[in-house]
Amino acid sequence: MKFGTYMFEAKKVPGFDYDLFRVKPEVGRRMPPKADMHSNIAIFGDNVTARLHPDWISQSDLGPAWRTNDNFNVRWEVLCATQPEHRAEQLDYIEDVARKSQGIWLNSIHFAEHGHCTCPRCKDLWKKSGLSWYEWRRKEVTEYMAQVSDRVRNRAKKKFVIGVLPDPVTNYERFGVNFDDLAPLTDEFLVVMFNKNYATPWYNEMLTRNFKKLFKDVPLNIALYVIGPGDDPKETPTPAELLTVSVRMARAGVDGLLYLTDKAAQMQEFQKAAIALTDVRERLKSYGGKQGQEVLDLVTSWEKIV
Ligand SMILES: [Zn+2]
Repeated sequence: MKFGTYMFEAKKVPGFDYDLFRVKPEVGRRMPPKADMHSNIAIFGDNVTARLHPDWISQSDLGPAWRTNDNFNVRWEVLCATQPEHRAEQLDYIEDVARKSQGIWLNSIHFAEHGHCTCPRCKDLWKKSGLSWYEWRRKEVTEYMAQVSDRVRNRAKKKFVIGVLPDPVTNYERFGVNFDDLAPLTDEFLVVMFNKNYATPWYNEMLTRNFKKLFKDVPLNIALYVIGPGDDPKETPTPAELLTVSVRMARAGVDGLLYLTDKAAQMQEFQKAAIALTDVRERLKSYGGKQGQEVLDLVTSWEKIV
C-alpha cells in the first residue's frame, strides 16, 4: 500500500510516500504547482470561473448547478461539462501543471448531477449524436478524459489519476461516468470518501470492496477527511476513527490511502495523535491481514520522525 497527504498547503510532510497539493480546488483558486508534489485539479467544479462566466453554469429542469440549489448535492458551482472554452483552457492548464509537478489527480470530471446539462448547446449536441441521453453524456465524459489523459500521460509523461465520486452503482446515470471507459485512460483511480466522522466504518469497507470489484486491475486510492479549511476540530473525525477505518479499508483491498488536511501542521498533529493511540493500535492488530498491518506499520514509522 501507498500513503499520501492531500493538502491545501504546498508543503511536504515527512512519513508519507508522496504529497498531493490542491493546486486548483473546487473553489477555483489556482496556486503554483510544486515540482516535488503531485497536483490535484477540479475541472468543472469551479467557483471562480462560474463567477466570471455565469452563463457557463450547468443547467437542469431543477435549476442551475449553483451551490445554493438544494435539489442537488452541489457544494460548489458546477460548469456545463461541454463548455468548449473551459474545456480547451483546462486542457492546456492541466498539461502545464503536469509538466511542473509529479503528476495530475483530477476531481470534478463529469456532469454536475442527474438531469444535467440541459443548456441549448448540450441539447443540440445530444440530438445530433443520435444516442440516448445517458449514452451521449457518457460519450462526452469519456472523450474529454481521453484528451486529458493524452496531455498528461503522452505529452507531459506524468502520472495520471482520475477521481470519481463514491457511488459505485449510479455514477453513470448521475454523472455520465462509466468506469470501464475510464480504466484504460488512467493509471489509478481516486475515490474521495470525505466524512465529518467515520463512526460506522462498515459502509466504507463495503464501498472499498465494491470499487475494487469494479476497477478490476486499476489501483484504487481512497481519500479520508482529517480536517478541512475553517473546521472546528470538535466536528472532525477522531484519530481513532481514522485509524480504524483505514485498517478496515486496507483489509478490504484498498491500494492507497490519502489523508486530507488544510495545513501541513495539522497533518503532523494527526500523526502525533495516531502514535498516542496505543490501545487502538494494539486492538487493530487483530483485524486481520497483511494490509491492515501496513497501516499500523505506517504509524509505527512515524514514531521516529514526528
Ligand atoms: Zn450544457
